[in-house]
Amino acid sequence: MTTNATALIAPSTGAAFERGQIPRRDLGADDVRIAIAYAGICHSDIHQVRSEWGPGTFPMVPGHEIAGVVTEVGPEVTDFQPGDRVGVGCFVDSCGECEPCQASEEQFCTRGTVMTYNSQEYSGEPTYGGYSTEVVVRAGYVLRIPEELSLDAAAPLLCAGITTYSPLRHWNAGPGKRVAVVGMGGLGHMAVKYAHALGAHVTVLSQTRSKEDDGRRFGADDYRATSEDGTLESLRGSFDLIINTVSADVDLDALLATLTLDGVLVFVGLPENPQSLSVFSLTSARRVVTGSNIGGIRETQEMLDFSAEHGIAAEVEVISADDVDAAYERVLRSDVRYRFVIDVDTL
Ligand code: NAP
Ligand code: ZN
Repeated sequence: MTTNATALIAPSTGAAFERGQIPRRDLGADDVRIAIAYAGICHSDIHQVRSEWGPGTFPMVPGHEIAGVVTEVGPEVTDFQPGDRVGVGCFVDSCGECEPCQASEEQFCTRGTVMTYNSQEYSGEPTYGGYSTEVVVRAGYVLRIPEELSLDAAAPLLCAGITTYSPLRHWNAGPGKRVAVVGMGGLGHMAVKYAHALGAHVTVLSQTRSKEDDGRRFGADDYRATSEDGTLESLRGSFDLIINTVSADVDLDALLATLTLDGVLVFVGLPENPQSLSVFSLTSARRVVTGSNIGGIRETQEMLDFSAEHGIAAEVEVISADDVDAAYERVLRSDVRYRFVIDVDTL
């Protein structure tokens, strides 16, 4: 038995969205039913709808930046009740038993994390994401949105927020650390806010100067345009940590040269092509290249509470469900300031 929810559905790779109905399972004992209020548009949605990371599963309902209100809870749920303001991020289940799950690093579950959409429940049912009116999720995968945060500006924290907060914490961004953020879009603008709030010295490396005022308002101490000649050369040895949010190919050797001894470059952007580098870029200063994937449930709640405490939320442009295709085009042109969020009431 299932109920139906209204959703924005991509019928096939790269096709325009259509309104339609999707099944949502009946409430299980440890399930929470959520009326979705807002769903953020992440660049990962675009990669997947366009099958840029390999063939997607269609019909597809993207959306893993979900904010809404609990409408119903199963009999075993003790942490949530109807009326609670909640969020759901990039995954909705994991095995709960492997070492990463035990450490609340569910995003690295060895059985395979069940992603919020374009994935399968362990039962084999397809998952459908947040561009829809409601969702049913196991309580252990639901986050609490603090009262201080509005639901529209909180939605992007469920992916863009945690994806940047987690590597900044893991690599100890803080006082005395010089952090560079490459690309100031959805993820990048959150990285600037968190790195600043954590006390680091923050530099934005954007393609152009056009967002400099915004970058400084978000907390950047320095802002450089990579399209200007000599920018990276002038920054050799400048940074302890680089968070690269760019989804396009990057000149890794030029970027690595801006890291100091033992400096770390973290990929959070996910280009569709393999990236290459000269090993000399690593050996010459014992540099590290690594990546980071969203964050676990415990850290996601910590990030939401940290955001409330520091007055941090996403800069959002709320759009109607009719405007999602156009918003995708704008994201692809780097014309986003700084996250599109769908008002699900318009579905
Ligand atoms: P976004 O809003 O499109 O931001 C990406 C930014 O990269 C753009 O705003 C632009 O910033 C810069 N950029 C775009 N094209 C570029 C190019 N050709 N050369 C250099 N810079 C370019 O995207 P997003 O939602 O932040 O996502 C960014 C990437 O992270 C995507 O690949 C997404 O799939 C990935 N992602 C990863 C995770 C994870 O867990 N690892 C989670 C979420 C998303 P400027 O205009 O400032 O240059
Ligand atoms: Zn995302």
